Amino acid sequence: PFDVLVVGGGPAGASAAIYAARKGIRTGIVAERFGGQVMDTLSIENFISVKHTEGPKFAASLEEHVKEYDIDLMNLQRAKRLEKKELFELELENGAVVKGKSVILSTGARWRNIGVPGEAEFKNKGVAYCPHCDGPLFSGKDVAVIGGGNSGVEAAIDLAGITNHVTVLEYNTELKADSVLQDRLKILPNVTVLTNARTSEITGTDKVNGLSYIDLKTGEEKHVELSGVFVQIGLVPNTDWLGDFVERTQHGEIVIDQRGATNVPGVFAAGDCTNTPYKQIIISMGGGATASLSAFDHLIRSDIP
Ligand code: FAD
Repeated sequence: PFDVLVVGGGPAGASAAIYAARKGIRTGIVAERFGGQVMDTLSIENFISVKHTEGPKFAASLEEHVKEYDIDLMNLQRAKRLEKKELFELELENGAVVKGKSVILSTGARWRNIGVPGEAEFKNKGVAYCPHCDGPLFSGKDVAVIGGGNSGVEAAIDLAGITNHVTVLEYNTELKADSVLQDRLKILPNVTVLTNARTSEITGTDKVNGLSYIDLKTGEEKHVELSGVFVQIGLVPNTDWLGDFVERTQHGEIVIDQRGATNVPGVFAAGDCTNTPYKQIIISMGGGATASLSAFDHLIRSDIP
């Protein structure tokens, strides 16, 4: 069995595995797609000490760093069930069972897609999901935020300070964000809020040039010209497969404490799949390191052979 079995091969999982391997203990990573969300990222400019890099390049250096150590990387393998018997047993989609004395869950999350024409086509060509990451790319330009919940309104406030103008589109009759956020949004001179607005298409040629929406009050289709669209309709953690094995929030995020521990002794978690407040590469990597050091602490105190 592995001393530390890491499930998920994004920034959190890679960091957790390297920290574990550096303790000289048996470490394995099971990953559906090594690299994680970073593989879908065009440019990364907020990984401190690296001024600029690109997602796939970043993922390749993650892999190179992992391969410096004696880490068993089981890539293209999806975990489907975790159980506690004498040891932890992780069942994979292909039927295999991998055993671990401790487990680190780092299966990440995915942005909910709006699913309209143009979204997939213009991903990274004007369609964005992370204002902290991609906001500065639209400096001085006009953008839209789809979604009027907390994350949408936070994104709009953030983007209003960077871009020329922000249009917020909310499908319902009113914004769903907390009222303090709505009040803050209302006083911004360069924000327009459209309620009863159902986005029907993101338009463009080689990159985004606008967005069409249906005004649900009149049924009329309207078009706004802009350079960027931020889709803010939710970040979904990849944790359904865990069922009730560990405690999760109502949004499905794994509940961890300051040490990265879940409610199950010996099971730790890190990164976007947890209830840590901000979802960023640098934060996930820190979480991976924390979870790994905690797993090591747990192992040296437990009597598992
Ligand atoms: P993830 O990167 O989501 O990795 C999860 C891993 O778990 C993957 O290997 C996945 O295949 C695996 N997995 C999932 N389910 C299973 C399963 N059942 N069995 C086995 N493996 C599984 N952050 C920044 O800091 N700067 C940026 O510029 C930036 N830009 C972004 C741009 C885009 C388009 C996106 C989508 C995100 C961006 N982010 C950025 C956010 C950043 O990518 C994430 O915060 C970070 O990747 C989270 O790392 P993670 O390891 O927690 O999860």
